[in-house]
Amino acid sequence: MMHAQRPTWCEIDLSAIRYNLATLGDMVGPKVGVFVCVKGDASGCGDIEVARTAELAGAAGAAFGNLDRAMAARQAGVRLPILLYPTCLPDTAPALEEHNLMPTLSTLEDVAAWSSHARSLKVFLKLDGGGFRAGALPHQAPAVARAIADSGTLELAGAYGHPMASYGPVDPIYTDAQVDSCIDALKRIDAAGIDVPIRMVSSSAIILSHPDADLNAVDPGRLAIGQSFPAAPGRERVWRHALVGLRSHLVMVKSLDDIGDVMPAPFLPRRPGMKIGLVPYGWSDGYPRKIPENATALLRGKRVGLLGPTHSELLRVDLTDVPEAELGDEVVFLGRQGNEEIGLDELAAQWRVGVSDLYGAIGKAVRRHYIR
Ligand SMILES: *Cc1c(COP(=O)(O)O)cnc(C)c1O
Repeated sequence: MMHAQRPTWCEIDLSAIRYNLATLGDMVGPKVGVFVCVKGDASGCGDIEVARTAELAGAAGAAFGNLDRAMAARQAGVRLPILLYPTCLPDTAPALEEHNLMPTLSTLEDVAAWSSHARSLKVFLKLDGGGFRAGALPHQAPAVARAIADSGTLELAGAYGHPMASYGPVDPIYTDAQVDSCIDALKRIDAAGIDVPIRMVSSSAIILSHPDADLNAVDPGRLAIGQSFPAAPGRERVWRHALVGLRSHLVMVKSLDDIGDVMPAPFLPRRPGMKIGLVPYGWSDGYPRKIPENATALLRGKRVGLLGPTHSELLRVDLTDVPEAELGDEVVFLGRQGNEEIGLDELAAQWRVGVSDLYGAIGKAVRRHYIR
């Protein structure tokens, strides 16, 4: 444990990310570049750490959804090429040039505005395959690519699309249609004689479900941190979760066996020999505001129940069944302790969220401890 710090942290296993990137690299082969998407602080795993890990693993680039974070990554020494999803205004062009960051353009208006602020800026064109997010529709894409090529100040580094994947009985048709439309847009740009060096349309779910859509680059986010999706034959692999621990320590233990003559809290179940402990982790750090039924944590290798209500930065645990518990004992919400373990699926079920939402739910004020 470190000194003078809140004794609460989550654990991110960077070796799992390295393993996932190596698995992915083997799967798509050496001719396909990997742009690792670290938007949303890499789902809470830490965008700079994940980008740095990707750089060391030989990734082709990283993709950020927030200019401030991309700048912070540069300041932290991240060197690999960085693509920015639509995230900033054209007057940032000089700063982007200086920091070697590539913005996303979709429309002729974008091209006019960015080119007027730029001197020499590499940009990406986004393709809209029918999801109607950012991007040029296939019939518009050649004109936007042409405008970039002719701008004199902008250089087309690549084009990417982001088909939405879903798994219902009808939706795969829509996903296929979007993938096809993005590839169609690339063909139309090719037919117009404009060079598109980097071409990618595959986020995590598309990589696993559409092996034909690898093109010459892919941009997975969640797969890199171990969140997998339904895989086509030949693309089934084992992925390792990067989020492996959420741990804290008791900052107070007290007995409620003898409460004198106060009126007992009506919401607290009273038990003979009752002992409670305080844990410095609460709803402002992501713990569900309403204590989930059957919520447990591990203490001295045993399961202990949580007592409501949750506080902003504190939780109470019922120590009655672990009378030997004392100040400073480790409390595990996620991970192993002794012979007991709470895994991601169990914690997600306790919190009533999906595993991928659990990653993002852990508060930003919770320190990330990296296992290297
Ligand atoms: C978020 C995003 C990704 C990564 O999505 P995952 O499902 O996490 O792999 C890839 N490309 C674009 C354009 C995105 O916005």
